[in-house]
Amino acid sequence: MIDVALGLDVGGTKTLGLLVARDGRVLGEAHRATPHVHCEGSGAATAQVLAALTRELCSTQDIDPQKIAIGIGLPGLMRSDGRLAFAPNLRSESGADIGTELGSQLMNASIFSDNDANCAALCEHEWGAARGLDDFVMVTLGTGIGGGIFADGRLVRGRSGFAGEIGHMVVQARGAPCLCGGFGCWERYVSGGGLQRLTREAAVEGRLPTLVAQRGGATLVRGEDVTEAARENLAEAVALVREIGWWLALGMANLAAILDCGHFVVGGGLSAASDLVLPAARDYLDDLVEGSVARPVITLTPSMFGPRSGAMGAALVAMERAK
Ligand SMILES: [Zn+2]
Repeated sequence: MIDVALGLDVGGTKTLGLLVARDGRVLGEAHRATPHVHCEGSGAATAQVLAALTRELCSTQDIDPQKIAIGIGLPGLMRSDGRLAFAPNLRSESGADIGTELGSQLMNASIFSDNDANCAALCEHEWGAARGLDDFVMVTLGTGIGGGIFADGRLVRGRSGFAGEIGHMVVQARGAPCLCGGFGCWERYVSGGGLQRLTREAAVEGRLPTLVAQRGGATLVRGEDVTEAARENLAEAVALVREIGWWLALGMANLAAILDCGHFVVGGGLSAASDLVLPAARDYLDDLVEGSVARPVITLTPSMFGPRSGAMGAALVAMERAK
């Protein structure tokens, strides 16, 4: 039985490292910016950052970085052999085997990789908001949207290990262009990136006159300005937050129709705004989902660990696979 493992969550913007105990306690935390370099998918630049985080965290607890079990959560299509096949929000590392690269940099053979949102789902199922739930979807709102699907008590992997790419479910035919190469993907309307995009669009179209005047120009209004102003009940900001809630509910309605999942757990970097967005999504979901009168109530819950659940789940993956 492993007592402590290291979880590394590589996001599109930043990378989080956590030392985690078997009971879910976090013993140490460190951050770095995620590198975006043109290195032809070798994984070397990312692995270098992960190695630095590992050494930093291990030194705080007097742990040997060659021996600790390490889990890596990565944002994209993960093959079962640990290779990151395709990563729209980390394009420079598409095709890389970051785990193997990190293993050779640290001389450590206990390194395991998984999709970041699958890690978050496993974490919430083990320690957090999804404990005891057999059917739920983890929705991580970060730079994009990640998904981890639990059905009948098991994480759904799919044929190639790619299941759960819910952020690239098309919710608007021929809609906003996405980094994956498609158009109208869900994450262009709901994630941190989606919030920025909808904010810009609303500002340019004249739907955020107060914020545009405050910031001194339509292109200067940020998503954070909208969530802050919505907290202070500025009507134009509340309207935009409710619009994002509608888009969130639309994707959830599609997933509920396909999976009959009873619960959605919402995490990721944007989950700090979940107290604003989730009530709006809840209001719209009944209208959008097929046969809502016949279904038991679908619950929308914020994740218990917010932006930490990916790294905590990566540590859990390492504990499970290394034992
Ligand atoms: Zn897409």
